[in-house]
Amino acid sequence: MNVPLLDLKAQYETIKEEIIAVTMEVYQTQRFILGPKAEELERRIARYTQSKYAVGVSSGTDALLASLMSAGIGHGDLVVTSPYTFFSTAGSIARLGAIPVFVDIEPLTYNIDPEKLEKRISIMNAKERSHLKAILPVHLFGQCADMDTILAMAKSLGIVVIEDAAQSIGADYLSSDGSLKRAGSMGTYGCFSFFPSKNLGCFGDGGMVTTNDEEAFQRLKIMRVHGSQPKYYHKVIGGCFRLDDLQAAILLIKLNYLDEWTEKRRENVRIYRELFARKGIEGLEFPFESKGRHIYNQFVIRIGQKRDELKRYLTNQGVGCEVYYPVPLHMQECFRYLDYRPEDCPVSIEAAAKTIALPVYPELRYEQIEYVVEKIDSFYRG
Ligand SMILES: *Cc1c(COP(=O)(O)O)cnc(C)c1O
Repeated sequence: MNVPLLDLKAQYETIKEEIIAVTMEVYQTQRFILGPKAEELERRIARYTQSKYAVGVSSGTDALLASLMSAGIGHGDLVVTSPYTFFSTAGSIARLGAIPVFVDIEPLTYNIDPEKLEKRISIMNAKERSHLKAILPVHLFGQCADMDTILAMAKSLGIVVIEDAAQSIGADYLSSDGSLKRAGSMGTYGCFSFFPSKNLGCFGDGGMVTTNDEEAFQRLKIMRVHGSQPKYYHKVIGGCFRLDDLQAAILLIKLNYLDEWTEKRRENVRIYRELFARKGIEGLEFPFESKGRHIYNQFVIRIGQKRDELKRYLTNQGVGCEVYYPVPLHMQECFRYLDYRPEDCPVSIEAAAKTIALPVYPELRYEQIEYVVEKIDSFYRG
C-alpha cells in the first residue's frame, strides 16, 4: 500500500469542476493582480479568522515581512521568537536587519514556552529592552501558542505581537476569560500562508495578513505595493507583496470546504490514537491538545528511540513521513553570528531529534491509517 504524506491529487479530484470553472472566470476578466477575487478572499478570510481586516499577500513569508515592516521593525531591533519553526519565521526578522531572539519551546505543544519567554525578557538590560520591538509566536503544527501570557507581556512592554499562523488557519485558542479566539486575531498582525501543503493551500504561493487595527491595515496595504501611496509617490519603502486573482479564486472555492477538511484531519488523529492504543507500542507520545481547536496541519509524534531508522523503514514501506524540523533555527549556519549554543534551547534540540510527522490529510482512508500503524508496530517488534 502507498500512503503519501499529503495527497493533493485526491483533494483536487473532489473539487476539479469548481476549480476549472472559477479559473475560467478569471481568464475572462483578465484581472490578475489584486482584482475582485483577491478582494473577496480578503473579506472572507477576515470573517473566517474573526478579524476586522485582511490584506492578501504573495506568501506566508511575505505576510511576515510586510507585518514586520508595517510595525516599523528594522536594523538593530530585537524580535523574540521560537527556534522550532519553519525557517522564514526568523529569516524574515533577519532580512530586515533585526535580530531574532530565540526562546525555547514547551515539550508538549512545541510552541514557545511562556515561562522561558518571561525569564528571557526579565534578564534583558536597558539597551536590549529599548530595542525590543515585538514578540512573534508561532502556532506550530495547527495549535495556538499560549497567547494569554504573550499578549499580557507584550502589553506591559508596549510592544506588538505578530502571530505566525501559517500552519494554523481556523485554530481556536481558549482564552483565560473563557472565550474562544481564532489564530491570527489576537495579536496586532496575524500571518497566514496558502502554500500548497497548508490546510488551505493554493496552486502556487499566496498569503494573508489579518489585523483588527485600522492603521496597521492601511500601512499593510501601502507596504505590499512598494510603499506607494498614492501611486508612484513613496513615503516609505515597501515590497512586491501582492496576491494574484487566480490563487484567490482557487482559495475561495477551497475555503468552502476548509472546516469539513479540518474535522476530517481531527478524526484521523482520533483513529490513530485508538489504533496505537490497541497495539500498545511503548515510548510513543502523541500531540498534547490544549483546550481550543487543534487543526492538525501536521500530526507529529515523538518516539523514544531510532527515529531516523523508523523514517527510513516507513519510507521503504511506502509510508510518507517527514521530520519537522531537523535543525532548530538557533543552530542554523546562517545564524552562527548570533552565537547560540545547542543547550540554549534544549527542548527544541530534543524535539528535532525525536519527532516525526505522519500522514493526516483529510482524504486519508481508514485502511491507510491502519497500514501506517501496522508498519510502525512491526518496526518496533523487530
Ligand atoms: C509555511 C510557513 C511559513 C511561510 O509560508 P510560505 O507561504 O511558504 O512563505 C512561515 N511560517 C511557518 C510556521 C510556516 O509553516
